[in-house]
Amino acid sequence: MSHQNPFLSIDQQIVGDIYTSTGVMDNLIVLCDDFGSRFGGTEGERQAAEFFKAKMEEYGLSNVTLEPVEYTGWTRGEAKLEIISPILKALPCISLPYSPPVDLEGTIIDMGDGAPKDFDRRADEIKGKIVMTTSVVNPKDSKRWIHRSEKYGRSLMAGAIGFIFVNHYPGYGPATGGIGHDGEGLIPGISLCKEDGALIQRLMKRKGEVRIRLTTTDHCQPATSWNIIGDLPGRQYPDQVVMLGCHYDGHDISQGAGDPASGAVSVLEAARVLAEYAPPLPCTIRFALWGIEEIGLYGSREYAKAHADELSNIRFYLNMDSAGAETNKRDIVLNEWPDLESRFEGWSEEMALGFAVGQSVNAYSDHFPFFMAGVPTGGMQAAERSLEGRGYGHTQHDTVDKVHLTSLREASTLAARLALRMASEETWPVTRRDEKAVLELLDSPEYREEQEYRDRLNTFYGKPRQR
Ligand SMILES: [Zn+2]
Repeated sequence: MSHQNPFLSIDQQIVGDIYTSTGVMDNLIVLCDDFGSRFGGTEGERQAAEFFKAKMEEYGLSNVTLEPVEYTGWTRGEAKLEIISPILKALPCISLPYSPPVDLEGTIIDMGDGAPKDFDRRADEIKGKIVMTTSVVNPKDSKRWIHRSEKYGRSLMAGAIGFIFVNHYPGYGPATGGIGHDGEGLIPGISLCKEDGALIQRLMKRKGEVRIRLTTTDHCQPATSWNIIGDLPGRQYPDQVVMLGCHYDGHDISQGAGDPASGAVSVLEAARVLAEYAPPLPCTIRFALWGIEEIGLYGSREYAKAHADELSNIRFYLNMDSAGAETNKRDIVLNEWPDLESRFEGWSEEMALGFAVGQSVNAYSDHFPFFMAGVPTGGMQAAERSLEGRGYGHTQHDTVDKVHLTSLREASTLAARLALRMASEETWPVTRRDEKAVLELLDSPEYREEQEYRDRLNTFYGKPRQR
């Protein structure tokens, strides 16, 4: 049964334009083929920031700015893993971002897929050893995604002297990902392909103990990145803001085409069509391209800090990390905002677009600083929580050829049509949560284990809680 759609003619213009243009793919190709990984500190990162600014201006957005983000940068050096006993063999490996430079020898302990409870249970065995664990995200049927950085953090707190991350997918080489805590980690973290991890396991099984020498030469230095922000100003309530955002930095070993650039170009495409076809709207729509998400959510954290006094005016922040990737399903996940669910479901019907609406929270993308500040947030991702893992994501194989124009079109039209509606509502059903309500939410059975881990790690590093 069709639902009355008050935005039908604007919807038709938005959808019609996006589906008869290749602009969104053209932008993706420039970002990935011309600028490369856009990893923090590279020339391509600066070029990408300038590109987004120029595009936002070309598309007619207002107040387009590059907002600087100061952070601790990390530069990859050569990494060497040599088995020194029971055989002599060098294995190709890469450092994980924020790994410190080291030259050390140690014995490997195989922690399997890295189930959180095993790190506590086996702490005595871990102490003084080099932990090896896979990239499987639901060890021992965990119901939540156990992130690489949590496996590293738990190894560190149990007294490990090094960390080896083994890809659980064959043929993709090593997978990368940050392990720092607002800068350099305290023990080295390196990554191996599945096949070399299996070799180490066979040696351990046959000969008992495997000893390695690990040499890394990475370094940290002060660095500056940029968030790129542009507005479609509202007429009646210009201070009331609906935000669409995605980071644009990828990992240095990759084009980062699916993660994140497919989402970044979809944010930009939504900006283009809304600037062109939306009538003057009551509220402002703000478009944000975040710097330095991959190694610590620096861009979005900086924005939430620098704009702290404006956060109460954000009706909703929709995170579009990887939104146009083949591996992503384009539903809407609300970060525990039950009072918004029926609104989004109504829009799904009104738009004649069957996306699902889910509810959950994770800490690992740019919605999180907003979530922690109580802002209503959500993401364009599968409503059903997937514990599949990243596939070729975070490997050298996350390349443009794997992103399809249709997926980019789906992500950009959904974002544009939702932003149009959110910015047109006379009243908005939710307001910002206070700090107590946010912490209470995380202190539920579902999120408690992860929150406890984060609190413990923050204490371990002796720093205040990440915001
Ligand atoms: Zn991402």
